[in-house]
Amino acid sequence: MASGRWTNRSAARAIAEGPLWVEQNPLGDVGGRLGKAPAPWQVMVMPRESKKRAKERAIEIMRRLQQAHPRATTELRWKTPFQLLVATILSAQCTDERVNRVTAELFKRYRSPKDFASADPAVLEEEIKPTGFYRNKARAVIGAAKMIVEEFGGQVPRTMEEMLRLPGVQRKTANVVLGTAYGLPTGIVVDTHVDRVSKRLGLVPADTKQAEKIERQLMDLFPQDQWITTGHAMVLHGRYVCTARNPKCAECILEDVCPKIGVGPARPGDARRQRKTTTS
Ligand code: SF4
Repeated sequence: MASGRWTNRSAARAIAEGPLWVEQNPLGDVGGRLGKAPAPWQVMVMPRESKKRAKERAIEIMRRLQQAHPRATTELRWKTPFQLLVATILSAQCTDERVNRVTAELFKRYRSPKDFASADPAVLEEEIKPTGFYRNKARAVIGAAKMIVEEFGGQVPRTMEEMLRLPGVQRKTANVVLGTAYGLPTGIVVDTHVDRVSKRLGLVPADTKQAEKIERQLMDLFPQDQWITTGHAMVLHGRYVCTARNPKCAECILEDVCPKIGVGPARPGDARRQRKTTTS
């Protein structure tokens, strides 16, 4: 890789630190190989891509994801926008499956925003404890319920601006509720799965930290009327295929359009350790 024209700074740093195998990207023009092919610690880096090409690739990714998940939506169970809001608040740092188990009972006891607004914080904390961070979550749920009752006539608001006024609600939660419950494409849900998948796919630079920046970049790549379904499809892809550990690249529908940024251990030592763990 004589030119050294990396678009991914962390990959460039990794290369400087040890011998890496850099493959020809199926989409483009990364050229060159360093050392011998040392699978399984094969690492690919993102080639430079024109804006036009990045957009075309993003649209192709979107098309395939939507084909794989034609009715992609949240896996949280809800019947009203308010229930979806509560479930989404509870889903922070928790699996949807566990949230669904908790809300199945919770929504029988609390049937409206008014019920949640007058909940005893200590009791609610106990009820939602399995979802983790229960003190903060109870505070957020009760606070949001109170504001919805007092300022929004008991209805979950329909604008991003109003949603962001609710305690404990940030853009991710607001996008889930506005997009899923009301069909309003206000942005793209960026959770841990979308964060990881979009970076591995090279849609977003791997060193982008803030969720809001990731969201903006994805919003630039995808058409607005596809934001809701694309976000949900990316979540599902991250949950079941492009998993944090051991992504299933060999069976992934995006394999030929994915540079797999950061996939696989980056150092020979990592590979040795990994072999040791799997054989012991
Ligand atoms: S599973 Fe592999 S090929 Fe598919 S998106 Fe993730 S990193 Fe790319």
